[in-house]
Amino acid sequence: MKEFKNQIESCKSLKELEDLRVSLFGKKGFFAGEFAKMKKLPPEEKKSFAQKLNEDKEFFLNTLNEKKLHLEAEAIAYEMKKDGVDVTLFNQASEAGALHPVMDTMDKIIEYFVAMNFSIEEGPLVEDDFHNFEALNLPKYHPARDMQDTFYFEDGMLLRTHTSPVQIRTMLKDKPPIRMICPGAVFRRDYDLTHTPMFHQVEGLVVDKSGVVSFANLKYILEDFLKYMFGDVEVRFRPSFFPFTEPSAEVDISCIFCEGRGCRVCSHTGWLEVLGSGYVDENVFKAVGYEGVSGYAFGLGVERFAMLLHKIPDLRSLFEGDLRLLEQFR
Ligand SMILES: [Zn+2]
Repeated sequence: MKEFKNQIESCKSLKELEDLRVSLFGKKGFFAGEFAKMKKLPPEEKKSFAQKLNEDKEFFLNTLNEKKLHLEAEAIAYEMKKDGVDVTLFNQASEAGALHPVMDTMDKIIEYFVAMNFSIEEGPLVEDDFHNFEALNLPKYHPARDMQDTFYFEDGMLLRTHTSPVQIRTMLKDKPPIRMICPGAVFRRDYDLTHTPMFHQVEGLVVDKSGVVSFANLKYILEDFLKYMFGDVEVRFRPSFFPFTEPSAEVDISCIFCEGRGCRVCSHTGWLEVLGSGYVDENVFKAVGYEGVSGYAFGLGVERFAMLLHKIPDLRSLFEGDLRLLEQFR
């Protein structure tokens, strides 16, 4: 019996082990032979003989199975070493990533304006008072500054509250005609269902000699842009106020959730506000030393667009990095 145990343990391949299994447990194998001997035994010995034989049989079956598992693992390890990586193995850990919905929306917006011949301008996130407020017709103590709660540094610098300072920087560095957009992150001290301390804007600015750029141009391009983003929606312009534009208009689209019939998302008005826009205020041109020009500007929140396009109810979920949300955009 000990001899069988040694034989099993010294098996070097699955083939060798299988041959050994047949010689032990096959129809003409060792155990079949032993059980056959039982017939010739006196009845009082049969029981204990059979018991012992069954115990041995079970022991060797277990030893064989253990050896088999061991040899199989060795065989797999050998194959993997030989071929490098086994590409047929299923690996659940490798999942493809995707663009974050905010970046995806940003790309789509940029795509439109680049096709319409706008340049892309960028500026610093840490701004000074002049570029963020003063030059945009928001002088010190102007009540409109209260509209924005600002992160200030001790030295008076601040985190930009909008991308508008990039418009100022571009006008100071270039001469008209100007046709630009400035996409990027902006910061405000706000945190609730519809506000986060950091979010993204895209603003646009078109400046040319007086009389070349009209409000009609502004209306055309924004209508065309919104239809590009949201499909066949109605667009309306509503008079509004911004310190840096005069006249100013807020731009609405017909609600994409209820098609204008009225629902919870549009507060039962049938309209969704998506853009701010207007004719650039003369004081802004004065601040950058431009004369005899006119132009229009517009701005939008990228997160708002992403939420509307993907029907995301809570703005904050865009910044939590929850894979369950992000997986849906693969
Ligand atoms: Zn609605």
